[in-house]
Amino acid sequence: MVTNTEQIFTFLNEHAEANKEDLYLEAIIDACHIWLSGDKMPRLTPSVTKEEIRRGIQLAVLKGMKQQAQPNHQMTPDAIGMLIGHFANKLMQQKDEVTVLDPAAGTGNLLFTVMNSIGDQVTATSVEIDELLVRLSAITAELLEQPVRYFIQDALRPLLVDPVDLVVCDLPVGYYPDDDNAMNFEIMPAEGHAFSHHLFIEQSMNHLKEGGYAIFLTPASLFESDQSAELHRYLKKNAVIRAVLQLPASLFRSAAHEKSIFILQKPYAEMKAAPDVLLTKVPDMSDKLVMSRFLEQIENWIDES
Ligand code: SAM
Repeated sequence: MVTNTEQIFTFLNEHAEANKEDLYLEAIIDACHIWLSGDKMPRLTPSVTKEEIRRGIQLAVLKGMKQQAQPNHQMTPDAIGMLIGHFANKLMQQKDEVTVLDPAAGTGNLLFTVMNSIGDQVTATSVEIDELLVRLSAITAELLEQPVRYFIQDALRPLLVDPVDLVVCDLPVGYYPDDDNAMNFEIMPAEGHAFSHHLFIEQSMNHLKEGGYAIFLTPASLFESDQSAELHRYLKKNAVIRAVLQLPASLFRSAAHEKSIFILQKPYAEMKAAPDVLLTKVPDMSDKLVMSRFLEQIENWIDES
């Protein structure tokens, strides 16, 4: 039987292949508009889920990204998105309403995975500098019926976003070229350009409610750079490091591309002594038994903290 996810991919892909004069990703956006208008749509079962829709669109976007590489953009891989979604859901489980911010949301794949995982009580804000990705993400949000507000801008400029319960972000990595703007951040080093990923951490903390959480996908070498002193100093003063989870090397092309999941909490007035930091390695995700034991360990840690 053809799954809903496959039906969606086929619908989008056929439209893109039939409109070769358009860029593949533009054609996907066009096909999503046609689907939304009801003129033509994939054949789906009535029980189709938000996750099936997200995955179907994601497959087509992945194909489009191979043909038309977006500079500096890689969609957050599903295995990592699902893990972040799992942690986000667990950390937000006590809340009736959850506000989420992704300041570098790209296609929205990570953000939607997190929103689908949290459930109906979530609303989100997406910031992204690339206009094509924002259009792709916005039409996906409509099809998923997920309430997302969009800002097309440099996320390191002032953001008109009220403090949120949760930030999730697959951090853009590299140097931030706008030194004048970077001077507004505590983390700016005395010499040279600041790292974008450091500035994004500071900007995210600025937009978190007290007690709120930030879950970042960071380079595994986050604390080994020549600017790690500035990062340490900033975090000591403004954040509580809750967890550093090293992802399996097998998920990445090379050691230089390895990443970790980094969980921070914004301190709040009644916070007692800083809790212990969870430092652990995520096991091989294809081993279901080992993985379910690992998730249980994380859930217990969240319940106790
Ligand atoms: N989570 C995203 C997804 O699933 O598609 C992928 C995020 S990708 C690793 C990082 C994104 O940050 C890219 O889409 C890039 O265009 C965006 N970006 C980089 N610098 C930015 C800035 N200063 N302001 C806003 N967005 C930025």
